[in-house]
Amino acid sequence: MGLRKSPVLVICLAFTLHFFGLFEPVDRFLRDMRFSADNRAPTGDIVLIDIDAASIEKLGAWPWKRRIYGDIIDRLNTLGVSEIAFDIDFSSPSNPYDDALFAKAIERSDALVILAAFNQPKSVLSEELHGNSAISQLGDLSWPASVNVFPDPDSVIRTFPFGEEINGEPVQSIAAVLGGFSGGTDGAYLIDFGIRADLIEHIPVHDLLNGSVPAEQLNGRKVIVGASAAELRDFFAIPRFGIISGHLLQAVAAETLLQNRALLQSDNPITAGLLLLVGAGLFFLQRKVRWSQMLLACVVFALALEAGAAVLQVAYADAMRTAALHFAVFSFATLIVFREINLGKLLQVIYESRIENMRIIFDRVIADNFDGIVIVQEDGTIHNANRAALAFFSEIGTAKRFGSKTLKGIRFQLIAPEEMGVAVEQAISLMRSGGSPNGGPIVLDYRPDHDQRLVIEYVVTASWLDGGMDRSGQAKPDQVVICVSFRDITDRKIAEERLDYMARFDELTGLPNRRRFIELLDEQSEEPGPATAVLHLSVDRLQQVKDALGGDFADSILKQVVVRLRSLLCSGDVLSAIGDGEFLLFVGSLDDRAVVEELVKCTIEDVSQPYYLEGHGAAIGLTVGIAYHASGVSYDSLAKRAGIALDAARAQTGVSFSVFDDRMESRIKTRQALELDLWKAFERDQFSVYYQPQISLSSGKLIGAEALVRWIHPERGPVSPGEFIPIAEQSNLIVDLGAWILERACLEAAKWPNDLKVAVNLSPVQFMQGDVVKTVERALERSHLPVSRLDLEITESLFVEDSDHILSLMQQIKDMGLRFALDDFGTGYSSLGYIQSFPIDKIKIDQSFVRGIGLDSQSLAIIRSVATLATDLNMETVAEGIETPEQQALLHLAGCTYGQGYLYGKPMPTADWERLIGQFEPVKAPLIAVS
Ligand code: C2E
Ligand code: MG
Ligand code: MG
Repeated sequence: MGLRKSPVLVICLAFTLHFFGLFEPVDRFLRDMRFSADNRAPTGDIVLIDIDAASIEKLGAWPWKRRIYGDIIDRLNTLGVSEIAFDIDFSSPSNPYDDALFAKAIERSDALVILAAFNQPKSVLSEELHGNSAISQLGDLSWPASVNVFPDPDSVIRTFPFGEEINGEPVQSIAAVLGGFSGGTDGAYLIDFGIRADLIEHIPVHDLLNGSVPAEQLNGRKVIVGASAAELRDFFAIPRFGIISGHLLQAVAAETLLQNRALLQSDNPITAGLLLLVGAGLFFLQRKVRWSQMLLACVVFALALEAGAAVLQVAYADAMRTAALHFAVFSFATLIVFREINLGKLLQVIYESRIENMRIIFDRVIADNFDGIVIVQEDGTIHNANRAALAFFSEIGTAKRFGSKTLKGIRFQLIAPEEMGVAVEQAISLMRSGGSPNGGPIVLDYRPDHDQRLVIEYVVTASWLDGGMDRSGQAKPDQVVICVSFRDITDRKIAEERLDYMARFDELTGLPNRRRFIELLDEQSEEPGPATAVLHLSVDRLQQVKDALGGDFADSILKQVVVRLRSLLCSGDVLSAIGDGEFLLFVGSLDDRAVVEELVKCTIEDVSQPYYLEGHGAAIGLTVGIAYHASGVSYDSLAKRAGIALDAARAQTGVSFSVFDDRMESRIKTRQALELDLWKAFERDQFSVYYQPQISLSSGKLIGAEALVRWIHPERGPVSPGEFIPIAEQSNLIVDLGAWILERACLEAAKWPNDLKVAVNLSPVQFMQGDVVKTVERALERSHLPVSRLDLEITESLFVEDSDHILSLMQQIKDMGLRFALDDFGTGYSSLGYIQSFPIDKIKIDQSFVRGIGLDSQSLAIIRSVATLATDLNMETVAEGIETPEQQALLHLAGCTYGQGYLYGKPMPTADWERLIGQFEPVKAPLIAVS
């Protein structure tokens, strides 16, 4: 378009848009902006009486009783106001008494009372209006004023009506009444928000009524009583000040009239005239000045126009409509810019710079990538390659041949591993034939030379590039371009393989582990025969070897064990190491179970031969559990069964192998069930302590009792401590249970006569796992039982443990003043050495010897020598399990000090025992002829 005629066009367009009101929002906006240029103070003639939150709180719940409004009128009259307007709805009656009080106050008022009237839709859906004015009782005494307002399309109030027709009667608006307007009720006017709404005075109703407002503050003024409390929701949006209350809006509107500031608006002819002037100016200027000066002139004109409009609005209350003029000038300026700057060129520059930026980013991403990236052209030469790629090809030695610092221009196949080169070739031909390579990663595991292994993961992607045009404008063919990205995953691969190996093989021996062993057996196709077996072998005394000669030495021994085991294997047998000196062996080559057991014996003998290593000799043993194949039993279960058989062998002294049978399994199940119940039993208080009398063999008098724990199982009835104590020991429950028994026994013994003692059994586990010294201290402290009345029974098995530690614990307990009795003497290791090494005061001769009296000649002889030895060592003896008076007599003669057994009483509950204490008759032993 020629620019010459453009002023005419833009002027015509601007006027048309203006005429149809399309600039109205812009004009409103500019007018609102100009209000801020004014700082007009209110006259002060209008004061607002606020129904605020504090007044509602002090004067009672909303709506207020109408007598309060009566009080307000009376008070305002006292203060000399001239007009009182209520922006409150009195269009329905309240209670007659209050309405009457309010009416009386209006009647009394010297000031003019104005009550709100308004139109509102008849119903939510109806557009028909219904007029509301104060009930006649009030309305007849007052002046009505309309309070309706009409927001602009953007919900902002800018105009206020002069009045309205309500129920067929013309009614002046509240602002018109207070503003003293006398020009009728038609139309509306623009409110001047140049008047500072925020400076209009407010008085809360509560302050008014409590007399804290001085007369001079209101004398001769007009007031509007209205809601400002947020919960009454009488709010409107206005320009400049945001959201304000309804009565403040009325006050600003009234102020506008009082100050004669209702804004004028320039009408269409004026706008048309101004547009013509602008058009002429532009037309004239474009001939005289250069385009840049023209642009400057447009900017200056726009600023000057707006400044002039602001002055006009502030000084003369004339709100000029300038939007059409701005539009005309702006459109003209835009046309100038488009003409001067070739738009096509501009877009091209922007486009090219974008492409350049993308290219820079793309190059950076490739260059800095940790993965190697090579871009290969259709002819097989490298178009670009990043640092990581160069480093990789240098490392494998292929790039060195070309001696350059860049790979550009080199044929990819000459430097890449063969498979990668082929993959790129294939991708190019696939693209050429209309396909596209599937871009999944490929793993290449290869050896660039003998001692180097490389594992590379790479992806080949292909794209078509637009060929563009040659100089003569001829289209060039599209090109295939290949991108190869790759990374060295050798370390990751080796780590994965290592983990995989570790998951299936034993690190130390290189034998399959348990998981792999079962896998191998499951993979077997051969049918198992009657002598097919899984053996669980466990090296004995390995811990001792470790303690004495160190872990490395023990590991070397295990490797030797494997060598010996391997030498006994036949083809088809599988050996597996499952850790901690334990092995699983599958024997599938034999037909006869007897031969299997012979093999086991041979193996045990072979493995148990001494080992000589690094100048040291060591002897270990081997214990074996055997499980023969049974139909329907998996190899996994078979291995478990071999383990059960191994446990059974270990539990018996002098047994080095045992064969699984079903009873073993059911014993284990019972034991497991018992273990579960045992924990519950402790929590559920199912234990109790029984007492079994002990007497002096010389006098036959009671000297005390042994405390023996009892467990009454809710379903099985009484369970023998011989059965559950070992289980409690294995699960360490004995630590808590033992402490409980000790404390219980001490508490009860404290109530017995002073000459009676209590003997409590302590488990070795209490010494090893618990804090036995503290347990004893606490029991004595809580029960106040004198130390001299408590004996502790221990067994020889305690001394097998770390003897220095045990000795020190026993010594600490002895130092407290307690005495130790060695229980079940004669059943265990029966080493007389122990008796001297540990602080023992009493020996309890096991009941098996007592039972043997009269049956064999040895028992009494042993008892006699133990009693003699004890006397020599200044110890006492207790004979257990005395059931007959003859046994008592013989034991007394043999030199035993005390006796315990059914002859004097079975273990009994507390009540029975306490009863027995009162009635116990000394037991006289019969006279026996001594042979
Ligand atoms: P123990 O300490 O040697 O207890 C003596 C066992 O022999 C008791 O069996 C008792 O009832 C039994 N007995 C006593 N006199 C006779 C008799 O004249 N004839 C026969 N046939 N048996 C007699 P009980 O109560 O079944 O205890 C068995 C074992 O359980 C105890 O042997 C002890 O080692 C352990 N035990 C019992 N109570 C406790 C305890 O509170 N703590 C610990 N750690 N172990 C306990
Ligand atoms: Mg005992
Ligand atoms: Mg005993």
